[in-house]
Amino acid sequence: MTLQFTRTEHPHPVSESQRADILAAPGFGKYFTDNMVMVDYDVDRGWYDAKVTPYGPIALDPSAMVLHYGQEVFEGLKAYRQPDGSIAAFRPEANGLRLQRSGERLAMPPLPVDDFISSLRALLDADNEWVPAAGGEESLYLRPFMFASQAGLGVNAPSTQYRYCVIASPAGAYFAGGIKPVSVWLSTEYVRAAPGGTGFAKCGGNYAASFLAQQQATAKGCDQVVWLDAVERRFIEEMGGMNLFFVFGSGADARLVTPELTGSLLPGITRESLLTLATDAGFAVEERKITTEELRKGVTSGDITEVFACGTAAVITPVGHVKSETDDYSIGDGTPGEVTLALRDTLTGIQRGKFADTHGWMTEL
Ligand code: PMP
Repeated sequence: MTLQFTRTEHPHPVSESQRADILAAPGFGKYFTDNMVMVDYDVDRGWYDAKVTPYGPIALDPSAMVLHYGQEVFEGLKAYRQPDGSIAAFRPEANGLRLQRSGERLAMPPLPVDDFISSLRALLDADNEWVPAAGGEESLYLRPFMFASQAGLGVNAPSTQYRYCVIASPAGAYFAGGIKPVSVWLSTEYVRAAPGGTGFAKCGGNYAASFLAQQQATAKGCDQVVWLDAVERRFIEEMGGMNLFFVFGSGADARLVTPELTGSLLPGITRESLLTLATDAGFAVEERKITTEELRKGVTSGDITEVFACGTAAVITPVGHVKSETDDYSIGDGTPGEVTLALRDTLTGIQRGKFADTHGWMTEL
């Protein structure tokens, strides 16, 4: 049975002129739309009471399991205004499936992908005017999340009750002043995820455990932390909230390498899409392990010409400088490389309806 969403009508809490001001300079994750989605789950009833309600605080029992044991998973994807005025999201089915896989690791019930898509449609029906105009770099960021709402402190079994929500936040151009390469700190002190752990899951706990390392990266003068594998501490896994690509060679002979999905890094939807787009463009692609030493030697010898990170929020971000306890070197000349820019152009062009969607990645919402 698919969920039917009810909608509470209410006067717009944000006036049209306030909304126009927000859409003119939204930043990221700062402002939220008028409404939100909420759906409840109980082990005896399944998913029930699907609704679109005014955006606002959620009342929780102080013993709700999420507040103590962190049983929570989330997603992040964007809705883009298309040139014909319609709204489409980039591969939302993939986000729906990833939410299920993340939830499975945290012993949470799956939300059917059809209901996941319906929840996005229900919210966008109500908050359509919050999707920025076509033609620019803006979009509406969608944040579905699910948490354990059962009251009680018992830790022998997962929660029997959950709440699924979707909130939405207008997102501006990630690089307001043009694309600028970031500097990264290779974290040898902290570990993000170990074999058998939750690294592949998009769960809040992974991010809670990352803040200290990100603070350390900032203290070392870097923009972002890069995680290494937990066992040998030399394989590069991913950057803060993005996957990584390494470009070997240049021009038509360029080869792209991205760390293989070992279970301890997040299987990014942008990562997977870029593997396809790079292959379309005629580049060889490889998913394999790459060490910090191979990176340093490759950059020094000139074999590695570009490094970039990819994810929903920024799409593609060039990496221009690498630092660690033992390393301190630059990649390229401080400007984004040509493979980085070409792939970015192709992917953002598909998302914004500028280029043909040959892979069927855009879903109208
Ligand atoms: N790694 C981590 C840790 C992330 O949080 C994200 C953002 N979801 C990514 C990679 C990139 O994933 P995606 O391309 O699906 O946004």
